[in-house]
Amino acid sequence: MNINTNNTYATKYEGFAVGYNSATEAWGDIVQEYTSHSRTYPGKIYENVGWVKGTKEAYGSWGGYLWLLQNTVAFRTSDTDVWVSPGGVTSHIAQVLVGTIGDYAPMANVADVGPMNWNGEAITDYLGAGQAEDFVCRGDFTAYYQLITAEVKFDKVGAICASTTWCGEGAPERLIEESRLNIVVTTQPEAHEDLVNLEVESVTPVEPETENGDLWQDIFDPSKWYYDAFLEAKTEKHPVPKRVDFAVKIGDSECATRHILVIPVFDHLAFPVFDYPEDRNEAWRYVIWKYGVSTFWLTSISYDPNQTEFPGLTSTFTDACTLGPPAFSTENFCASTIAHENVHGQQTADYIFSSQASWAAGFAHFAEVDAYNVELQKAEHHGLSESEIAEITAWRDYYNREGPKPD
Ligand SMILES: [Zn+2]
Repeated sequence: MNINTNNTYATKYEGFAVGYNSATEAWGDIVQEYTSHSRTYPGKIYENVGWVKGTKEAYGSWGGYLWLLQNTVAFRTSDTDVWVSPGGVTSHIAQVLVGTIGDYAPMANVADVGPMNWNGEAITDYLGAGQAEDFVCRGDFTAYYQLITAEVKFDKVGAICASTTWCGEGAPERLIEESRLNIVVTTQPEAHEDLVNLEVESVTPVEPETENGDLWQDIFDPSKWYYDAFLEAKTEKHPVPKRVDFAVKIGDSECATRHILVIPVFDHLAFPVFDYPEDRNEAWRYVIWKYGVSTFWLTSISYDPNQTEFPGLTSTFTDACTLGPPAFSTENFCASTIAHENVHGQQTADYIFSSQASWAAGFAHFAEVDAYNVELQKAEHHGLSESEIAEITAWRDYYNREGPKPD
C-alpha cells in the first residue's frame, strides 16, 4: 500500500454555540455550522483523531461544542495486481484488505477520511441534554493481500483416449466421450473464474509429433472448460502415451497446474488403464481400420482370451479366425497377425492338408511359409519393429526347413 502524501492531510473542525433555549437547538446549530470552521494540515496524519462534543446549560441558556480532528489519507492499494512471494512465485491479488479501513480492489486509488468513513453518524449524533463525549480513534492502515488460488477438477481419473477419425467410421460410441475431458476451474475467493485462463502448457514426450488437442471455455459458464485429446493420425504407426499439462493462469501468474495422460487408441482398448473396460474385439477392429488390413477371406474374427499359445488361428473348414492375447503385443503385430490369418482363409483345405503332409514328411510347410511371407511383404506398411520382423523371419525359415524353431 502506498500513501500519497500530496493528497493526505489532517483537518480540524470546531463548532461552538451559546444562548439557545434548548440543548437540541444548540446542537442543531453546531451540526449545521461546524464544517465551515476548519483548518487543514497538509501532509499530516494524526494518531489522536476523534472528537469532543456535548451540550451544557449555563446562566439559563443552552450552549454546545464540537471539536473534530480527522485524517484524509490518500493511498493506492497496490502497485500491481500480482504478488511475488520471496520464493519468486507469482499470485494474483483478489483484493487488498486494509486494517480497519476496508476491503479494496488491487491498484485502487482510495481517499480514506477518518473518523468519518468509520464513524460518520457518530460524530453528529445528539447525545442528550447536558451529555458530553470524548472520542479518540486511530486508523489501522496495515494492508493484507488476499490472493486468488484456483483448483482444477477433471471428470476422468488419470487418463483419456487419443482422438481418432475412426469415430464416425465404426468406432464404439464411448470413444468420443473417452477422448474428452470435462474440466471445472474454481477460484478461491469465489467468482474470479472470468479472470482465469486455462492453457495447455506442454504435451510430452514431443515425439512422435501431435497437436496439443482442442481446449475451449464454455460460453455460458466461465468455470467450465472442455478438452478434446489430440488426434492420433491414421498414418502414425507408433503412437505413445503422452502427458498433457494444463496451467491455470491469471495474466502471467500461474495459479494451478494439473495433468492427464492421453493413451493411444489401441492401448486404450487392449490395455486400458484406470477404470476403463478392456475390449480387444474393438482393438482388432481398430487395427483393421487403421492399417486397412484385408479380412476378405475370413468368415469371422473374434478374440479368445484362452488362446494363449497362438497369436491367430483360422479354421481350415469354416475360415473363422480367433485371435489370442499374443496377437495384442502391439497394434503393428496385431495387424500383421490378421494379415497372416487372412492368407490361411484364402488357402483351400486341400492345400493346407497337403502342406501339413509335406511338413510331417520332413519338408517345408508351404501354407505357413506363404502366410509369413505376406507378413514380411507388409512389414513396413504395418510398422513392424526390427525384432518383430526378425521373429517372423525366423518362423518363416523354420517352416521352410531353413532354420531352427524360434524360442
Ligand atoms: Zn499360420
